[in-house]
Amino acid sequence: MAGHPWVFGNELGDSEGTAEPGDIVELYSSGGSFVGKGYYNPASQIRIRLLSRRKDEIIDDNFFYKRISQAWEYRKQIGYVENCRLIFGEGDMLPALIIDKFNDYFVIQTLALGMEKWKGAIVSALQKIFKPKGIYERNDVSVRTLEGMEQIKGFLSEPFDTNIIINENGLKFHVDIENGQKTGYFLDQQDNRRAIQHIVKGADVLEAFCYTGTFSLHAAQYGAKSVLGLDISDTAVATARRNAELNNYSDICKFEAVNAFDFLKQSVKDGKRYDVVMLDPPAFTKSRENIQKAVTGYKEINLRGMKLTKPGGFLVTASCTNLVPPDMFLKTIADAAKDAHRTLRQVCWQTQSSDHPILWNVPTTQYLKFLIVQVL
Ligand code: SAH
Repeated sequence: MAGHPWVFGNELGDSEGTAEPGDIVELYSSGGSFVGKGYYNPASQIRIRLLSRRKDEIIDDNFFYKRISQAWEYRKQIGYVENCRLIFGEGDMLPALIIDKFNDYFVIQTLALGMEKWKGAIVSALQKIFKPKGIYERNDVSVRTLEGMEQIKGFLSEPFDTNIIINENGLKFHVDIENGQKTGYFLDQQDNRRAIQHIVKGADVLEAFCYTGTFSLHAAQYGAKSVLGLDISDTAVATARRNAELNNYSDICKFEAVNAFDFLKQSVKDGKRYDVVMLDPPAFTKSRENIQKAVTGYKEINLRGMKLTKPGGFLVTASCTNLVPPDMFLKTIADAAKDAHRTLRQVCWQTQSSDHPILWNVPTTQYLKFLIVQVL
């Protein structure tokens, strides 16, 4: 599907016929040629999101079954079996639909009215393709209000125990589908967690913004001597500790519920040093107006992270908002290095795992930045 699938209100001219909010409509160019079909919402700034560029393609239950089947075939082809983001919205030509697969369990988000209307078809398709043990909706997301929808969560299948355990890279992790952050677990870092394999051997590691301790436990698995993980959320830290127990790494991995900004600042003051510092903060901004605030946040934690890294040690750092593009992120890290009087040597520079496909015609599908540098 070439071109961007979103059409804004101010880009639209005349309309013919009537459409209810969420209905499928056809889009034509000013010259009268067919552009595509998609769903419509007059209450949203994004007035139409295209689902198909083919005039003869009918948008019905079977359409969703086909798209979801294709997405699953693609995931298997590129090597994801047990856990994956099965549907990554625009990246799978299903705008505003997110489906995470945690083995036999599925978590869904329908973030636009036009997609919400097909929720039944989507659930039936999952039932048919996977015969899942459970399907849950995590539509407790604020963007839904921009589409005039309520925030809700709950079962879309027979109720089941929403505390599950998944396997990743030979480790086990508790996932709380009902109350965890976002869909419960950050699958987008699953490949990046493997990228720390060689730099953590025998290392003393600090991980700030650790959520349920996934990077920390990978560090332990790859031979770290000690790991300290920090998160501001008590429940995240409690789960991180349970994850350490589950994998028999409670001796190596310790977790503390603290504000990482304060902790990093104090540790620099105290002259602490680590072999490896890992930072995976939240988005810091949700709007274009606040990008500078996000950059300031990234600069601060990375500057402190570098100061806490022993000469020759490693900084592992990430940014998860598409509002800060890769070049802006790298420049922020370079600025921090300058202020810290440290030289950086790049080890690894990558993006989200490839079960979150990047479409070159939809730049926002690339959102994660993941960098490992040696701090000289
Ligand atoms: N690396 C994790 C994901 C981290 S998400 C993983 O791969 O699973 C960002 C985390 O930062 C969230 O768990 C959030 O609770 C935490 N957080 C947000 N602000 C914080 C702060 N000021 N100090 C410490 N943790 C914070």
